[in-house]
Amino acid sequence: MPRPTMCRKVSYIPTNREFKPSTNDSGEVNTLKIEEVEALRLNDIEKLNQSECAAKMNVSRQTFQNIIDSARTKVARAIVNGTRIKISGGNFNYTEYDMKCHKCRHHFIAINQDERCPKCESNEITITDQKIVSRKDCKKRCCKRG
Ligand SMILES: [Zn+2]
Repeated sequence: MPRPTMCRKVSYIPTNREFKPSTNDSGEVNTLKIEEVEALRLNDIEKLNQSECAAKMNVSRQTFQNIIDSARTKVARAIVNGTRIKISGGNFNYTEYDMKCHKCRHHFIAINQDERCPKCESNEITITDQKIVSRKDCKKRCCKRG
């Protein structure tokens, strides 16, 4: 039996989920998983090294390598062949933080601890509560609290 896939921790959920070629759209779609976008973000935008990325996503270095290889191939194919990119699905979880701003007293929910207050942009914010959110009702070790 294959081992069940553990959820990969992400701290960013993209809002743009579809990209289309401006001409000669064949309609062919490359689907990127949420955790593949997170891998690209950590490695290629945040410029973290692979062990740091793997630690952030709660996976082994080998698994991280597989995730990012798959992501890069899909993005490259879309650009070279002019296919669509859709972002959806995957095995991932994220932590939802209840935040409080000390400057304007605004309460908000964030999935990234480094965020700023969306109202006043202050970074004087604290976490008042947090919970792990998984895509499905994941009962595996990766999504158990404590
Ligand atoms: Zn504020």
